[in-house]
Amino acid sequence: MRKIQMVDLQSQYQTIKEQVNNSLTEVLESAAFINGPQVQNFQKELESYLGVKHVIPCANGTDALQIAMMGLELKPGDEVITTDFTFAATVEVIGLLQLTPVLVDVDADTFNINIEAIKKAITPKTKAIVPVHLFGQCANMEAIMEIAKEHNLYVIEDNAQGIGADYTFSNGEKKKSGTIGHVAATSFFPSKNLGCYGDGGAIFTNDDDLAHFIRGIVNHGMYERYHHDVVGVNSRLDSMQAAVLRAKLPLLDLYNKKRRQAAIKYTAGLKDNPNVITPILADKSELTEDNNQHVFHQYTLRITNGKRDELVKHLNENDIPCGVYYPIPLHLQKAYVDSRYKEEDFKVTNTLVKEVISLPMHTELDDEQIDFITTKINSFLN
Ligand SMILES: *Cc1c(COP(=O)(O)O)cnc(C)c1O
Repeated sequence: MRKIQMVDLQSQYQTIKEQVNNSLTEVLESAAFINGPQVQNFQKELESYLGVKHVIPCANGTDALQIAMMGLELKPGDEVITTDFTFAATVEVIGLLQLTPVLVDVDADTFNINIEAIKKAITPKTKAIVPVHLFGQCANMEAIMEIAKEHNLYVIEDNAQGIGADYTFSNGEKKKSGTIGHVAATSFFPSKNLGCYGDGGAIFTNDDDLAHFIRGIVNHGMYERYHHDVVGVNSRLDSMQAAVLRAKLPLLDLYNKKRRQAAIKYTAGLKDNPNVITPILADKSELTEDNNQHVFHQYTLRITNGKRDELVKHLNENDIPCGVYYPIPLHLQKAYVDSRYKEEDFKVTNTLVKEVISLPMHTELDDEQIDFITTKINSFLN
């Protein structure tokens, strides 16, 4: 059996070496390292894949979130509602811009922001909601867009983990994750579903004026060379990273399908274990290779008999890497404590942090590896 990796970018590279190397060589030969044609072409190709009017590449996913919020001209003191159960970048940029983060609880079955909790958190100061499509599955965007409309709020999708996922509205209409809210942010960190070989990110929007405004913000607030109309930042996707992403974008659907195949296999091996809850699809439809509503950035179990930490140890002793995403709810992180929070409002995240474990998930997992992992989990937990 091949050594099991949490994310296996080495094996993946071996299968796309030629495309990637050719694409990188083009950049080296042209020496157009910044804002070269690879960046513009990648932007257009991603716009067409997503069916969104504007993709604005930038330096990383955290910048993308920050710039999206700057683009919406949120002001210090504005309240921004987001999930208590996500990577810290989501709430970090809210704090950096001196906006007030308002963390709320999530749904136990999908790990995504809870709709009733959002409603309860809205005040006259609320300006935006930031749903995170955690682990590769969209938050309940239909309900979130309705709430936003009713209360005149912006919706900023944190799509760092969800790229390529489809969201289906109750009328049957389908949209790609990150194209539903007013603006979205994504990350091309190497381990993400569409990852480059360094840092990268992008902002998506269908709003022409917002896109224009944001294109200036990422470039020092310039709309005309050396005229600085607003305070901006320097946040660029470099041409080498765009070259890697151009080679990988045509494979994104295949990659997400491979992740779903691995998820199906994991679930088949673990679903009868009474101490394990396998991932649940938000619309409760069947998990199939072609049902691309979940793109499994992570395959995350809940271990319900209190033995999660022992399981982590057991897997590591058997050379099976695993991760706990996330071990501490954001409302208990020192940087984000707020005396207004009440523990009873975070019942679900407080439970999930003790139960969750994410298994190896990438495009190169094979059946033998998955069988080995599920067998080790079942023999330990039964
Ligand atoms: C990875 C990630 C980010 C940040 O992306 P970077 O490119 O690492 O800055 C933001 N939000 C979520 C949910 C993420 O998973």
